[in-house]
Amino acid sequence: MISEKPRVRFAPSPTGYLHVGGLRTALYNYLFAKNRDGKFILRIEDTDRNRFVEGAVENLIASLKWCGLEYDEGPDIGGTYGPYMQSQRLEIYKEHVKELIAEGKAYYCFCTPERLDELRKEQQAKKLPQAKYDKHCLRLSKAEIEENLNGGVDYVVRLNVEPDKKIVFDDVVRGHIEFESNNVDDQVLIKSDGYPTYHLANVVDDHLMKITHVIRGEEWLSSTPKHVLLYDFFGWERPVFAHLPLLLNPDRSKLSKRQGDVAVEDYRAKGFLKEALINFVALLGWNAGDDKEFYYIDELIEKFSLDRVNKSGAVFDLEKLNWLNAEHLRKKTDEEILPMLKKEIHNITEESTDINQQPELQLIKNRNFDDEYLLKIISAMKERVSFVREYLTKSPYFFAAPEKYEEAAVLKNWKPETPPVLQKLRDEFSALQNPGKEEYENALAKTAEGLNIGKGKIIHPLRLSVSGISTGPGLYDILVILGKDEVIKRINTALEKIKV
Ligand code: GLU
Repeated sequence: MISEKPRVRFAPSPTGYLHVGGLRTALYNYLFAKNRDGKFILRIEDTDRNRFVEGAVENLIASLKWCGLEYDEGPDIGGTYGPYMQSQRLEIYKEHVKELIAEGKAYYCFCTPERLDELRKEQQAKKLPQAKYDKHCLRLSKAEIEENLNGGVDYVVRLNVEPDKKIVFDDVVRGHIEFESNNVDDQVLIKSDGYPTYHLANVVDDHLMKITHVIRGEEWLSSTPKHVLLYDFFGWERPVFAHLPLLLNPDRSKLSKRQGDVAVEDYRAKGFLKEALINFVALLGWNAGDDKEFYYIDELIEKFSLDRVNKSGAVFDLEKLNWLNAEHLRKKTDEEILPMLKKEIHNITEESTDINQQPELQLIKNRNFDDEYLLKIISAMKERVSFVREYLTKSPYFFAAPEKYEEAAVLKNWKPETPPVLQKLRDEFSALQNPGKEEYENALAKTAEGLNIGKGKIIHPLRLSVSGISTGPGLYDILVILGKDEVIKRINTALEKIKV
């Protein structure tokens, strides 16, 4: 009997990074386990030695941990059913496959690559839908097998799929599924290097690790009949299967690197918040049955269920991710954003192009700004940014005096009569003691009145002088944050630099 509390696993092959599709699989497993007080297990499926990538496991674990998907058992923390790296379980697979061989459910195959190649070509010439092994070695006598084994002939072990059968199973997402056994190849279970294939290792481990629900991407659906046969051959209870819909590019092709980033670490490097990424990925193939789109992980845990996972492919919509990032960032308190902004200032590098376009920002790398000052900037800019980095790129003037002035705004607002007006304003400002918003506003109004001009004739050139650009938060907020001395300094610099 499958126990009440589920045990689920994320079982990636370490390819070098955590794919967003992998993150979705890991997340759904995690949510399902947490929702039902079960266990979430990380198992590394590293039996394909040709695809070994140095550092891949560490990388994968780092990405999972960054996302907050803590597992209960795994290669680095152990657990009752370890080891959790398949390369450390080779003996277990060998023992199990011996059992199948003894019962005629698997068999040794000594066919050479050349023979298999020929077979494949023959079948292609006959236009058969798929290449299949012809069970040649199933007909070998015991003596022939012994002789080959003793003679050290290379071999693989194959699954003995019985012809003309229906293989049926139920999938929580896709419903009742039937495969013809005639379309299922005699899958290799043990390769010539002695390593198991994915199919054997996966089934043996899911059984030994007491996995109750196999939740994985749809691309594994076509492997499931082989797995189902293995469960039946071993006489084991099958887990519940749930195959998650494909992730698609906006043009509905399969999500690929060519159309954008697919690695979690790329999104992290671009400044996406883990909360936003988790929220976004959770909605790729699942919804709670309402229109709600903003979620924290606790609420996802509470609401998640496999029967609300969709069949149809889920489109990876980067605009939605951007929107969620902005929403999650805005929901943070100014104090929460403060260390993130400091880190961003510390991390300015030449590679980051948006910052590179603003040379003044290169100058502030590693500079220390006091917390009080940064908190004022956060509060003024919060509604205007979607990424922490944008505090720098959208309002560089809070961190360094403008190096240049927006050309279109100069043309529009800087007139021959502007300099004397600004000089007058500067003198009004100079006379102020510790000015706040109101004092600046009054001084500006007084200047306009004295010169008998509209306030707009002062406001726009003043904004340009202090910030270099024509957009941003309220002008008086900017003045208060910068402080009187800096404001006057910037007016003087603009008077020197801007020529029309
Ligand atoms: N190792 C497979 C992968 O890389 C696991 C598939 C499964 O969950 O069964 O995705």
